[in-house]
Amino acid sequence: MVKAVVGANWGDEGKGKITDMLAKEADIIVRFQGGANAGHTIVNDYGKFALHTLPSGVFYGHTTSIIGNGVALNIPVLFGEIQSVVERGVPKPKILVSDRAQMVMSYHIRFDEYEEERLAGKSFGSTKSGIAPFYSDKYAKIGFQVSELFDEELLQEKAVRICAQKNVLLEHLYHKPLIEPEELLAELHGYRDMIAPYVCDTSAYLCEAIKAGKQILLEGQLGSLKDPDHGIYPMVTSSSTLAAYGAIGAGIAPYEIGKIITVCKAYSSAVGAGAFVSELSGDAAEELRRRGGDGGEYGATTGRPRRVGWFDCVASRYGCRIQGTTDVAFTVLDVLGYLDEIPVCVAYDIDGEITTDFPTTVKLEKAKPVLETMPGWKCDIRGIRSYRELPENCRRYIEFVEEKIGFPITMVSNGPGREDIIYR
Ligand code: GDP
Repeated sequence: MVKAVVGANWGDEGKGKITDMLAKEADIIVRFQGGANAGHTIVNDYGKFALHTLPSGVFYGHTTSIIGNGVALNIPVLFGEIQSVVERGVPKPKILVSDRAQMVMSYHIRFDEYEEERLAGKSFGSTKSGIAPFYSDKYAKIGFQVSELFDEELLQEKAVRICAQKNVLLEHLYHKPLIEPEELLAELHGYRDMIAPYVCDTSAYLCEAIKAGKQILLEGQLGSLKDPDHGIYPMVTSSSTLAAYGAIGAGIAPYEIGKIITVCKAYSSAVGAGAFVSELSGDAAEELRRRGGDGGEYGATTGRPRRVGWFDCVASRYGCRIQGTTDVAFTVLDVLGYLDEIPVCVAYDIDGEITTDFPTTVKLEKAKPVLETMPGWKCDIRGIRSYRELPENCRRYIEFVEEKIGFPITMVSNGPGREDIIYR
């Protein structure tokens, strides 16, 4: 059985925790998109970890972690992460890297920085991990695929060709130092030596594993609203964040994905720019940000304060639908225990028209939240292990949200740890 764990919102929903938890029963965990631009925070017996590239299953000795072909592979970051988990006592994870994955090159990171600098106030709020330049090159067919590292003649020719092309922009658009083919080749050779022991045809490996009845998890990064097709374009990421892309980014048949677990957070948070209808400001925002997540809502990659707001039923219903959700994991509910009343965004008012359908970005920019208020439960729900034992108002909140989004909430997460979960 293949299960996908994906986000319903803007990312940071707690997918890492849910994957880490489900990984206990899994044989293989696959990253299928994105790169080192977002982080998963995981709290387990070894401590607290922020992973950017390694799949969240690396903490179990019995799992194989796969970097799929859809990933933006940053080899130095991957190696740094392997080293950092091993240093802290985690057994050396078994990792396979797709021979069809492409690599984030140091010039991708520099181009990301230069472009943000050039756009100045109009920038996209990139994490400057090179992701947009990387995927642009992949689709412009000028990226470096892992398999190419092992063909020296090809590398030599391509290094010259890529430098010629990149140097036009470096010289005339950005006015920055040029890149030399020798320098680029040295970088590629370094990557080849680091990655060689891990490379294989991961699609074929997964195909055999599926035949053998293995349990496979596909781990998504960010959430529905950051998808380049279905999200809040252009304030999106550069690879698809949807479960459907899991088939492509892992190299498996789409019909093998039997469960789509969409992680949906009990309030809203987002990093970077873009329309955010239920966003809070002032003291109320500051308090939710401080109490949020596990130690506050600050980005795992950049440390930037996240924007926070009330739960958005319109965005979440859409986010769950576009994922093809079979199960919702409703997370970080414990954080809301301090509130007397909890406003929920149930519809959007767009130029006087009330709608529960999530609009395109141009209209979204004009949307104002229509709020309904639920009574709070005013207590700490961490440690509770059965649904019945949750305070009545807490159950009412969950059931209200479930009805509004239209997908079954089968898991409720009430703390950052593996064991902080209530199955319904
Ligand atoms: P991801 O990118 O979707 O994996 O999410 P992040 O790891 O960036 O953000 C989720 C944050 O919330 C992390 O700090 C988690 O440890 C924390 N977290 C996850 N689930 C819960 C929960 O149910 N309650 C609390 N308080 N924190 C949680």
